[in-house]
Amino acid sequence: MTIPEVVVFDLGKVLVDFDYGIAARKIAARGDLDDDDVKGFLDRSPAPYHYETGLITRREFFEAVRKATSFDGSFEEFGSFFADIFWEIPSMIEMHATLRRHGIPTYIFSNTNDLAVEHIRRNFPFFSNFDGYILSYEVGAMKPDAKIYEALEKMSGKRSANILYLDDRTENIAAGAARGWQVILQESPEKSWAAMKESGLLSRV
Ligand SMILES: [Mg+2]
Repeated sequence: MTIPEVVVFDLGKVLVDFDYGIAARKIAARGDLDDDDVKGFLDRSPAPYHYETGLITRREFFEAVRKATSFDGSFEEFGSFFADIFWEIPSMIEMHATLRRHGIPTYIFSNTNDLAVEHIRRNFPFFSNFDGYILSYEVGAMKPDAKIYEALEKMSGKRSANILYLDDRTENIAAGAARGWQVILQESPEKSWAAMKESGLLSRV
């Protein structure tokens, strides 16, 4: 078995949990749709996907939501409502810190947007301690598109079984496994910790 040389973390539902319902409620309170309709819009509209692939800007995303919901707040208020939906998963933050103490390079590999990243960088110190960040809106592609996996390989200088990758979504994990990456499907922090110990990376922990 190859002991991996770098560890690649998905962000949402791996290192931080989130609830778009929090944003939907705050946006609904300032517009003419109810919570569920705002949530439905965010789920079904192409705007979040376009925003997270870098096809539209933050301002254009704001305008799309404003048009659909009649949100009457400012661009800045919208940004804070949309971004303040995350909280840390403590045992996974500890896993990352443990890897760093062992000198193991780590990367963030996320389908996300600039509002979320700015908010997380400002509020969660762990986020600053990675070797690199592959973010969908910067790459112009979302997991499981091969383009974003290639970007990670290029940035890290690693390929196939030298990469260990954690993600909570099966289609993203499958795309990594198809490239020969070692993978951990995050079902719970406990299972991910057990799998991390089996990888051989933290054999002395
Ligand atoms: Mg995720």
